[in-house]
Amino acid sequence: MGVYVHIPFCEQKCYYCDFHSVVAGDEESFSSVVSDYFLSLRREALYYKKLWEDRALRTIFIGGGTPSIVPAEQLASFILFLRNELPFVAEPEITIEANPHSLHYEGAAVLSKAGANRVSLGVQAFQNRLLKAIGRVHTSDQIGQSVGALKRAGITNINLDLMFGLPGQGISDWTETLREAVALRPTHLSCYGLILEDETPLARWVSAGIVHLPSDDEQAEMYDLACEMLKEEAYEHYEISNFCEPGMECQHNLLYWHNEPFIALGSGATGYIDGFRYKNMPDIQGYIESWTRHTPYYEYTDQVSLDQEMDETMMVGMRLLRGVEEEAFFRRYQVSFRDIYREPIEDLLAKGLVQESNGCLRVTRQGLFLENMVSGAFLR
Ligand code: SF4
Repeated sequence: MGVYVHIPFCEQKCYYCDFHSVVAGDEESFSSVVSDYFLSLRREALYYKKLWEDRALRTIFIGGGTPSIVPAEQLASFILFLRNELPFVAEPEITIEANPHSLHYEGAAVLSKAGANRVSLGVQAFQNRLLKAIGRVHTSDQIGQSVGALKRAGITNINLDLMFGLPGQGISDWTETLREAVALRPTHLSCYGLILEDETPLARWVSAGIVHLPSDDEQAEMYDLACEMLKEEAYEHYEISNFCEPGMECQHNLLYWHNEPFIALGSGATGYIDGFRYKNMPDIQGYIESWTRHTPYYEYTDQVSLDQEMDETMMVGMRLLRGVEEEAFFRRYQVSFRDIYREPIEDLLAKGLVQESNGCLRVTRQGLFLENMVSGAFLR
C-alpha cells in the first residue's frame, strides 16, 4: 500500500502527451504556484491520513508531469512531511520521475538524503533526431550523465522509460536504444509503444500525412526485440511493458497490478481507498482553491462493488507475467476465480492466449500481444 503524488508541471509539452500537465512558465509565477500546490498537497495528505488510519504504507511514487523541475529541496521537504505524518514503514520505496537533463547530482543528493531511493528517467530514445521529433527537451548525451550523477548521489535503483513506434524510428534505432540503455545497467526498464492520443499535435500531424509512424508489424517486431534482448541481458520480463534485474520490480506499480489500495494526491490524481475510488479534477488552480477550504476537488468518485473489484483484480493481474495466483485470489475473496470466470478462461485457453502454470493463470507469449483482449475477457 502506498502513496502516489502527481506533479503536473513540465518544461514544454511533448507532442504525443495527453497526461495532465501544464507548461511551467516564468520562474516567478512558477515558484508561487509550486508553493501553493505543495501546501495543498500537504492538506490533502492530512485529509486522507484520517481515512487511512494506521495501516502500513510501503511506497511513495512522485510522478507527473516532470517532478524534477520542482526544486529538490521542496520535493525533499514534502517527502519528509509524508514520512512524518503517515504510517510509513522504516524504509519505503520512494520513486521520483525525472527528465534526464533536469536532475543533477546536487538535487539527487538532497532527495537521497530525504529517503528517495529510486528514480525513473524519461529517456524514450537515444537518437537526438527522434527525441526532437516527439518534442522531448533532453539530448542523448544527458542520459548517461544523469545516470552517473544519480549513482554518485547514492540512488542506484534506476528505471529508464523507453518508447518504440516513434515517428521515423527504424528497427536499427530501437536496437541501438536498447543497447545504449542496457550499457548503463539500470535496475529496471520500461518499454512502451507510442499511443497516438486524439488532440495531440502528433495525432494531427499523422492524420494530415505530415508524419509517419512505423507499421503495426514493425511495432510488434520492436516489442519482440525488446523481450528477446532484455532476456539475453538477464532482465526478467515481469509485466507486459516492464523488465527488471532479479528482485528489482517496482514495488509501487506492483501495488496497482495487485489491485491494492493507495492514496493519491494532487490535481488529476486517481486514488483507491477501501473500495472508494476518486479522481481529482485536472485543474491546478481549482485544486489549490478547494484545499484552501480543506475540501477535496473531485472529478468523480465511485464505490467499487465486490464484483467489480474481482474483475479488476483479474484484469490488472493478467498484466503480470506470473499471472493471477489462484490461492491468493481465493484467500482474498473466498471464492475460486474458476467458478466466476469459467467461460472466459476456457475461451482464452482454447485460443492459446492464457495458460495455467504453478497454480497461476497467466498470459502466453501470444496473449502478450493481445493483452487488451485477455484483460477485457474478465469484465462482467
Ligand atoms: S515530460 Fe512527460 S508529462 Fe511532460 S509533456 Fe512530456 S510526456 Fe507529458
